Amino acid sequence: MEKLYCQGCGIMIQTENQTELGYAPKSALDRDPILCQRCFRLKHYNQVQSVAISDEEFLDLISQIGEASGLVVHLVDIFDVSGSLIKSLPRLVGHNPIILVGNKLDLLPKSTNQRKLKQWLRSSAKSMGIDVKDVFLISSAKGHGIDELAEAIDDYRAQKDVYVVGTTNVGKSTFINRLIKRSTGENNVITTSYFPGTTLGFIEIPLDETTALIDTPGIVNKQQMVHYVSDHDLKLITPNKEIKPRVYQLNSEQTLFFGGLARLDFVKGEKQSFVCYFANALPIHRTKTANADELYRNHKGKLLSPPDQETLSQLPAFTEATFRLTEEKTDIVFPGLGWVTINRPGTTVRAYNPKGVSASLRKALI
Ligand code: GDP
Repeated sequence: MEKLYCQGCGIMIQTENQTELGYAPKSALDRDPILCQRCFRLKHYNQVQSVAISDEEFLDLISQIGEASGLVVHLVDIFDVSGSLIKSLPRLVGHNPIILVGNKLDLLPKSTNQRKLKQWLRSSAKSMGIDVKDVFLISSAKGHGIDELAEAIDDYRAQKDVYVVGTTNVGKSTFINRLIKRSTGENNVITTSYFPGTTLGFIEIPLDETTALIDTPGIVNKQQMVHYVSDHDLKLITPNKEIKPRVYQLNSEQTLFFGGLARLDFVKGEKQSFVCYFANALPIHRTKTANADELYRNHKGKLLSPPDQETLSQLPAFTEATFRLTEEKTDIVFPGLGWVTINRPGTTVRAYNPKGVSASLRKALI
């Protein structure tokens, strides 16, 4: 096939893979101008579409932000902060200011302490070397916090461009579509002007005559639970509404399994409640720690599911980490799944999760 380029974003057109950059259906190749599906949808339906690229491609593309000047809006998924923070961001964006946005707020219990959540987001970013100017919590799906964020973006950008970055699945498209709707109303069509020489694969949505909001492709972070689980299992682990805490009164030497995707042993400490925050559809099993290894060996993928068979074939083996809790009210966070709140200091627990998706601690949010 002759090489064709999208006249919107400049990317080379391909007709094979719908979820990757530059895709256009064969039938679109005769159109004039030729647009990739992503640009086509933006132009005709006012919608941005989620596209994914590999880390290396992403690094190449996004390093161009370093040479530009503008505000970087980094979207993360509140349920998978360690998986959705982009470690290389500071290196890539140079001196441009970053604001951090935690999305999917609607899934957290109403009693969540938003101040603590913001602090945790900020310190999680900081621990990866990402210094952020400000932190916001939103729900792109429901619209919470969007007005406040949009106003802050307008302040922080100081009449410059805005780059929206995030890993896949954080809700970046949902977010940008909401911004577009907000600025155009339901029915108006935005005029997307295509700037010549625009960065490949970046989609520009004009903010005014000279500046734009730029949708960058979503980065694939292989160490995210979403990439290890089947579509079927993803539905079970992804909360689809506000999560309800499930409380277990445990003695030491008891164990909880979260499906068969994570495990928490109560190693030492007084009898107490373990408060579990996971998708309501994810089954939790309690057992004696002494029986846990055998239960896992014989029942993963069956009684202990998800994982289903497809997930099992790609899921890395468990690794474990032991934590001795020193503070009152600590959350053990399982990235991409949820967390467990433990109230008493002096408790020792052991957390198991697929290698690469490590559990961590934070001050309890609730
Ligand atoms: P992208 O890959 O970052 O562009 O993500 P999408 O916008 O395609 O969203 C990924 C998934 O997260 C979809 O299933 C969305 O419905 C869901 N999602 C996005 N924003 C929110 C939100 O604020 N709350 C909830 N509950 N789900 C969301």
